[in-house]
Amino acid sequence: MRGLAAVPSYVVMQPTTLCNLDCAYCYLPFRAADRRMPVPVAEAVAASVNPWAAAGRFSVVWHGGEPLAAGREHLAALIAPFGPEVEHHVQTNATLIDDAWCAFFVEHGVRVSVSVDGPRERNGDRVTRGGGPAYDRILRGVAALRRHGLPFSALAVVGRPEPGLATELYDYFLDLGCDVLGVNIEETEGVNLRDNSHDAPLVTAFWAELVEAWRREPRIHLREVEWSLRYAGAVLDGSADDLLPRRLDPIPTVGHDGSVIVLSPELAGFTDVRYGDFASGNVLATPLAEILAHADRTPWVGEFLAGVEACRSSCPYFGFCGGGHAANRYFELGRFDGTQTAHCRNSKIHLLEGVLEHARDHQSPAA
Ligand code: SF4
Repeated sequence: MRGLAAVPSYVVMQPTTLCNLDCAYCYLPFRAADRRMPVPVAEAVAASVNPWAAAGRFSVVWHGGEPLAAGREHLAALIAPFGPEVEHHVQTNATLIDDAWCAFFVEHGVRVSVSVDGPRERNGDRVTRGGGPAYDRILRGVAALRRHGLPFSALAVVGRPEPGLATELYDYFLDLGCDVLGVNIEETEGVNLRDNSHDAPLVTAFWAELVEAWRREPRIHLREVEWSLRYAGAVLDGSADDLLPRRLDPIPTVGHDGSVIVLSPELAGFTDVRYGDFASGNVLATPLAEILAHADRTPWVGEFLAGVEACRSSCPYFGFCGGGHAANRYFELGRFDGTQTAHCRNSKIHLLEGVLEHARDHQSPAA
């Protein structure tokens, strides 16, 4: 795997910077301001995306701020330029979802992913602008999805891995009714400066316990665990070298103003004396396909690719991880060419170790 691919597998779009919640761990710098994406930005993105989608599976992920805070009418106008082959997803806090939004999701074929951190007492960081708990509003949105029979994914942030938590979370999400679950250990990035270093054995045990809970009742696609098991299986059958893509997926984020940030949505809205605004271009001036064809010339991207090479030559987990996570490097290390971060310890190294620990604890005595 070397360099960036010219064609991504999906594009992240920011229909508004605004979020109606004010979660304590949020990385977004302008979440109190409603800076909406003009329709010409979506039209410019669609001009590149539509041919990609006609050639193979392609997704647009509407991410915020809170994407539903843009309103149904505006979001419909932003979706309109995209062809019928494009799959649409929203990552939402669910608090605005009602019957009318469910009808919108059906009409536009939008797949929903809900951010919720587990049972009520695990959602203390998810608060309204007035500082009140958001949990009941999140559940009302989830209830609307269920009433309409709409499948949904869930994304949970874990602030403090501790014994028992993984089982509690998995059982909760089984009851909630999601069909896919992503679990993120909280990350120090953007305007979230909270320290996220944890004791290695605690994090490893958290992931091992999550595998255990999932194996008891594997009704949910558990993103991190299934991906780790796929890697472990590939190592055993000697095909691990084929797992990483030949080139890194650039995963462009198109900001509300049309600026394009590759690799890390978390960099959008930030500037740095050395790296400027991190943008590789703006779709209102240059086609997205052309921006991506030259994105590796963006100064910070060159430094990041040097960091990936440093990972390749120094980290035993490179085959599993691929050395990604540009924003984590920047916000934790202040540069892009460093290697290990708290994020990669929490969410890559100890994840793989947790999966292997589970496998060791459950191997048959004869093995
Ligand atoms: S785990 Fe960290 S140090 Fe290792 S390859 Fe991934 S990013 Fe690099």
